[in-house]
Amino acid sequence: MLKGIGASEGYGIGRVMVIAEQSLEYTPKEVADVDAELERFHNAIDVFCDNTMQQADAIRKSTGDKEAEILEGHIAIIRDPFMGGEIENLIKSGQCAEASVEQICKMFIDMFSATGDDLTMQRATDVKDIRDGLLGILLGVKEVKISDAPAGTVLVCRELTPSMTAGIKKENIVGIVTETGSQTSHSAILARALEIPAVLSVPNAATQLSSDELIIVDGTEGNVVTAPEQSQVDEYTAKREAFLRERRELESFRGKKTESADGTEYELFCNIGTPKDATKAVDADGEGVGLFRTEFLFMDRNTLPTEDEQFEAYKQASLILKGKPLIIRTLDIGGDKEIPYLGLAKEDNPFMGFRAIRYCLKNRDMFKSQIKAILRASAFGDIRIMFPLITAVEELRAGKELVEEAKADLKVSGIDFDENIQVGVMTETAASGVIADLLAKESDFFSIGTNDLTGYTMAADRGNSDVGYLYSPFQPSVLRMIKSIIENGRSAGISVGMCGEAAANPMMIPLLISFGLTEFSVSAPSVLKVRKCISKWTKAEADTIAKKVMEMSTEAEITAYLKTVV
Ligand code: PEP
Ligand code: MG
Repeated sequence: MLKGIGASEGYGIGRVMVIAEQSLEYTPKEVADVDAELERFHNAIDVFCDNTMQQADAIRKSTGDKEAEILEGHIAIIRDPFMGGEIENLIKSGQCAEASVEQICKMFIDMFSATGDDLTMQRATDVKDIRDGLLGILLGVKEVKISDAPAGTVLVCRELTPSMTAGIKKENIVGIVTETGSQTSHSAILARALEIPAVLSVPNAATQLSSDELIIVDGTEGNVVTAPEQSQVDEYTAKREAFLRERRELESFRGKKTESADGTEYELFCNIGTPKDATKAVDADGEGVGLFRTEFLFMDRNTLPTEDEQFEAYKQASLILKGKPLIIRTLDIGGDKEIPYLGLAKEDNPFMGFRAIRYCLKNRDMFKSQIKAILRASAFGDIRIMFPLITAVEELRAGKELVEEAKADLKVSGIDFDENIQVGVMTETAASGVIADLLAKESDFFSIGTNDLTGYTMAADRGNSDVGYLYSPFQPSVLRMIKSIIENGRSAGISVGMCGEAAANPMMIPLLISFGLTEFSVSAPSVLKVRKCISKWTKAEADTIAKKVMEMSTEAEITAYLKTVV
């Protein structure tokens, strides 16, 4: 079995077609007739752009607009005066078109690859694709016809480029295996859009596998089963059928309201980490964002993001959501989330230390600039502010005071913002659970962060496997905490959501319905699953389950019982 990254879920069983890299070798030469060479280069660009437009049209029909835009982006890159101009300059200096294209593309590829940032590194793949396309045209190399692949083909190649993807006939390709790529690479995005199981980053896949051999692609686990036994073929055929059945069923929940079997409606939001993730939330049919983890804006850089930079990021996310709610959590650093340039002192007990709201309240300028950025973005959508790690009413009050100060500053400067912006508490500490009644009086909403709430209630670090047996949201103590937070929020008339991982757990969902949760915030791929889970239960059924669970004394008893009902 070969291991890689499962980049597009599902199972495919088929025969390998290795897409060998074509030779784009040439002998660099000096050109005497510069004008003729420039014309050859311009013709190649025209052919390249025509081909790419055709491929983009094909992808638009088979897959969708967004995927086509990836290819159309190639035209924009090569038509960019800077890149084209640099290539022309080399040709004018007497270099042949092939060498000029290669040299300038290499410069861009090296520059993008060096960033270490997944999205920027993706641009390197785009430029490689452009380089190979242009060289192919200049050298008159015939393209491999992926569109000729017969039914039941598993494509195996070093790198699946967007232009190769354009030739894929969805009904014929049952799997994709590549040597490079990650979850966020274009090949992964395209494979997911085409709903073809894909395993990426399998070392030497194109040389280890040979055309016509039978393999199984497990895009869910990231495995490639080579020389499968008949029993494995049967096993994966069954898995594939179950997966496709489940996918069809889940798709029937797209565009539907999130409601229980007896018609109570819920809000089903997504958790995001970057403004671009807001697109994933929308694509996944999320009804808003219940948690925007803003620390990602502060990471992977050497200085604090400015108020303007943050404003742009929050505004961008909000515009993508087109009026759907966006709950922005203020900076939650410390504990497991380090930001080196802040120079936080090493602590013996960082999870209990100087972090999140505690740090922000002591660094008021930084905190105020984040709050101002959020307020400014609130003029562009339904934005709400959420404070992490609240343990005492004073922290909530101090945070709210800063919000008022920021509002006053913006008023003086004549800048628009939502005057009635909601300010809520992320209930994720044992203390916030115990004083939920007090916090509810001064908070516009709660969102339960079960990832931390479980850790702080059980005094068990989520990263420490020795105490992993204690770290479960189904511990009676954690369930009591969750129930009490929801009940206290509800009696104060505020909405109570959950943005911790437990919100997507099918065993937790009937309990949350019974306790009275009104909003679920989950990762984008879980949206339809959670909508389906919620649709299964009536309040009466959920109450019966919750009553039994709340009478049980141990986590083992509770999970064993819940497994029998979901
Ligand atoms: C949580 O604690 O449940 C949560 C959602 O926040 P994070 O995982 O970012 O700490
Ligand atoms: Mg947390």
